[in-house]
Amino acid sequence: MGKVILMAEDDTKSLKLIRDLFGVFGYSIIEATDGKRAIELAKTKKPDLILMDIQLPVMNGIEATMMIKADATIRDIPVIAVTANAMRGDEERVFQAGCSEYITKPINIQTLLQTVDKYLSSSTSIAKIAQKRGRNEKS
Ligand code: MN
Repeated sequence: MGKVILMAEDDTKSLKLIRDLFGVFGYSIIEATDGKRAIELAKTKKPDLILMDIQLPVMNGIEATMMIKADATIRDIPVIAVTANAMRGDEERVFQAGCSEYITKPINIQTLLQTVDKYLSSSTSIAKIAQKRGRNEKS
């Protein structure tokens, strides 16, 4: 089964780009157009990764990420911030909120794929298996 990516994005053009792009690579995309909905879908669908636009209606991406990271049942899901806002201090704010990475708009497809792959590639799973095995041997 393909990995599931939750895309929190209110811009239809960006949504379409990401839906088409990841569809080609066999990922399933679920979509939220505001921050509150993103939290709901994170809880109910337990995606493998979240792409979080920062400027979102109802609740912005910073607040939504903080809520996700405060919830023990979903806090391990990596959140990648996506934002057009290149204001100074933004990078610091997204990392403080708990985002693992930071991507700026306009989205560079190569950068996006490489960043997502870092979290969803098979090598990640292999690393996890190795880690578990190490724990078992110790006990
Ligand atoms: Mn937006």
